[in-house]
Amino acid sequence: MECSYQIVCPFFRRKIAIHDAMYQQHVRQYCSSAGEECAIQQVMKGASFLKVPNDLYPNQKWRVAGILATEGPLAGVKRP
Ligand code: SF4
Repeated sequence: MECSYQIVCPFFRRKIAIHDAMYQQHVRQYCSSAGEECAIQQVMKGASFLKVPNDLYPNQKWRVAGILATEGPLAGVKRP
C-alpha cells in the first residue's frame, strides 16, 4: 500500500530540492508504503501540507516536534 498523501505531498511532487538518486531511494523506502515513519507525513498530519518546510526530508523525524511546536495548531498557545 502506497502513502495516501502522495497527491498533496511537496516531497513526492518534487517541490523539495533533492538529488534524483536520493529521491528515488526515499520514494522506495517511504512513499511506496503507508509512510507512517515519514517526517513529512507527520507534519502534514499534525499541521498541514502547507507547513512542510522546503528543506524537510522523509528521514528527518527528529525535526517534527520542533516544526509542530511552531507551525502546529497549538503554536503560540501559552501553557499555565
Ligand atoms: S511517505 Fe512521506 S514523502 Fe512519501 S508521499 Fe507520503 S508523506 Fe510524502
